[in-house]
Amino acid sequence: MARRTPTPPENVVCSFCGKDEKAGAMIIPGPGANICSDCVEICTRIVAENAPGKKKAGAGTLPALKVPPPAEIKQFLDQYLIGHERTKKMLSVAVHNHYKRLTQPTGGKDDAFADVEIEKSNILMIGPTGCGKTLFARTLARMLDVPFAIADATTITEAGYVGEDVENILLYLLQSADMDVGKAERGIIYIDEIDKIARKTENVSITRDVSGEGVQQALLKILEGTISRVPPQGGRKHPQQEYIALNTRNILFICGGAFVGLDSIVHQREGRQTIGYAEQNAAARKVRAKSDKPVPLAVQPEDLIRFGLIPEFVGRLPVLTSMCDMSEDDLVRILTEPKNCLVRQYQKLLAMEGVKLAFDEAALREMAKLAMKRKAGARGLRAVMEDLMMEIMYEAPGNSKLKDIRITAAMVLAQAEGGDAASHLLA
Ligand code: ADP
Repeated sequence: MARRTPTPPENVVCSFCGKDEKAGAMIIPGPGANICSDCVEICTRIVAENAPGKKKAGAGTLPALKVPPPAEIKQFLDQYLIGHERTKKMLSVAVHNHYKRLTQPTGGKDDAFADVEIEKSNILMIGPTGCGKTLFARTLARMLDVPFAIADATTITEAGYVGEDVENILLYLLQSADMDVGKAERGIIYIDEIDKIARKTENVSITRDVSGEGVQQALLKILEGTISRVPPQGGRKHPQQEYIALNTRNILFICGGAFVGLDSIVHQREGRQTIGYAEQNAAARKVRAKSDKPVPLAVQPEDLIRFGLIPEFVGRLPVLTSMCDMSEDDLVRILTEPKNCLVRQYQKLLAMEGVKLAFDEAALREMAKLAMKRKAGARGLRAVMEDLMMEIMYEAPGNSKLKDIRITAAMVLAQAEGGDAASHLLA
């Protein structure tokens, strides 16, 4: 007997995604609901991924992830990042746990914790601009050799407003994974300026979600884990578009922001002798008073809620770390110690021309002082260095007088006052 294929009536739409046949998808009609071939594919993956006893993502066709112990992760971070000791430890542990959770299959008959689901530990980094938050996220992704993407929270908008859909963040990650969905699903996304989507009553923009709350709601879903439909061309979603289904459950989200004004919220709370917190608050004040170095803010989730983040959003970022401004000493170290520090970069560039380059300790200190004045953290160092080196980089190649260059404090100061360091050398 010949089999009949169901012929959908005109204008049948998928009950799951709303797509119709014109979008090129096959629609399978059912009693009371229809489904398109794309949604069948998504559902098949969800079923397969959640099948009992199934190995976690990362243990399938993809090469196994090597998850180094936290101490090894920290050692790697130490090579690229100066200071922030506590943040380094916290992130090393959080990232280790996150990836261990993906690589170790659970549910075997000898597994005493078979019913325990380890939740993912998205991270919130609070720290002034230029203190290394993005560098942290990038370095972690490099160490683990996973795809990495950076997004700016201020460009994301709630559906219906001018701006980017949250799914575009996932598209950046997919692109960094060469559009390999499996690889992207275990990547790291850094979302910068997360403090800018805090609820603010005085925000009166009409092109953006007025409260910021809508954007937080939109991010919530992908942070906690969902099957997202990512438009491969980017831009706004529209019903006729093809989508790539991406499960965000194992993607590690690291959010960062400067949270200007959060310090007064924290100090206010510490000042209140709330029952139960009095001892903790007094201890935090004591640590700050005793230390001659800046001490990171002891931020509690409730402070972030007062700042304007919604409780559910704060709840999705369980690893919370706050970082201090860079000190002058830190900036000097940043110039010379990290593997690809600025001093070594310039030394390498000039070495290619047969030119030796050295910096006096006092010169480095003057550069750090100038960068401090710019109030852009370590980012200010690059601008100071570029100002200083521009004329030298221009003059040195092919100039026999400039074969062995020593940068002195006087040269740095002259440059800062509008002179140029090269003329010092050529004089
Ligand atoms: P943030 O994201 O906190 O604004 P970035 O990570 O973008 O700061 O830092 C800008 C640049 O400054 C980095 O690319 C790096 O060169 C340098 N930098 C910042 N903080 C550090 C640090 N702690 N150690 C080494 N370099 C740093």
